[in-house]
Amino acid sequence: MKRTLISVCGLAPQVITETLYALHQQGRLPDTIKVLTTRKGKEACHAQLFSSGDGQYHKFCADYAIESTVINFSPQNIITVTDDRGRSIDDIANEDDNRIFLRACMIHAYEASNNSESEVFYSIAGGRKTMGACLAAAAQLYGRPQDRIFHVLVSPEFENSREFYYPPLPPREITLLDEKRQPYRKNTRFATIQLVTMPFVALRDKLSGGLLQQVEMPETLLMALVEEEKPLLTIDLSHKKLRWKRREADLSPTLLALYAFFAQWKKGSPCQDVACRGCPICFLEMPQILEPDNLEQIATLYQRIRPSCDAEAMSDTGILSLSAENFNSLRSKLNRRLLENFGAVEKEYLELTSQGIKPGVRYGLQLDPEKIQLIW
Ligand SMILES: [Zn+2]
Repeated sequence: MKRTLISVCGLAPQVITETLYALHQQGRLPDTIKVLTTRKGKEACHAQLFSSGDGQYHKFCADYAIESTVINFSPQNIITVTDDRGRSIDDIANEDDNRIFLRACMIHAYEASNNSESEVFYSIAGGRKTMGACLAAAAQLYGRPQDRIFHVLVSPEFENSREFYYPPLPPREITLLDEKRQPYRKNTRFATIQLVTMPFVALRDKLSGGLLQQVEMPETLLMALVEEEKPLLTIDLSHKKLRWKRREADLSPTLLALYAFFAQWKKGSPCQDVACRGCPICFLEMPQILEPDNLEQIATLYQRIRPSCDAEAMSDTGILSLSAENFNSLRSKLNRRLLENFGAVEKEYLELTSQGIKPGVRYGLQLDPEKIQLIW
């Protein structure tokens, strides 16, 4: 059975050689290694693991008599995660970077586990904590019974040493730092490296065929795993969240007020068609949305959700001075939040849609009014 190791890595490539050492001790070396990292992480991997002459990966293989052809691992296997424009991200600095990184984890977990005659080891020890969390989520969703999620525990005094990559053969003295950051010498034979196997629920087998045709984001897969007989969209204004099929999404007061307005509108519509897709009663054209009565309703909703006055809402682009332009920007933000929280399939049901073509575009919710409840 072919074995792939997928590892996340930040600026300390030690984690790769440490994981390899631990797997070697267990007689479970991988056939292929893929490292998911950032641009800076890739530079660190190239410099420390593969540099000619003193690359630590080559040293590890030489020390433990591992032929270079046994493991498919070279600089090409260090994969930087790229944004929409194909640029490698420098670091995981914000929510967007995190989502890009999560997507990369999903892609590689999906591909590596597509072959049922393979096993995939996921090492979540390297990089920022969020990177390990992303890989663990991907492993869980695409994981199968034969796959594993590992963490690596290195004896604390060796863990942060720049000189320590794995216990070398023969063991030798290296410089470590004590608690007061004073240097001292210690022999590497005292170093221990343990692989900790993390328990997880392997969900891939529970995903139906259609969902495995291509890679999906976690929220889409999670929603597909929930079966509910009569789903009800709850718009909980006092807790500022939406609930749908046992999942919750937190929304800002602005987005929540806008969504609640359209939910109320739909619920109040006398239209009899439960699957209505854009009738002029259920769906509003822009000039109607901007009528004073409706703007006042939106403002009232907002102020009930967020009683204290705030500058953002009062600003020209805020909810309290709604224009066609900021309506569209808020609508796309809202729909993006729905996508991120409930996945692509459910977002289709829940989104604030636009129907028809300019200049007669109408906006509203498609959801059956009986499936919507607003609570305070
Ligand atoms: Zn209608």
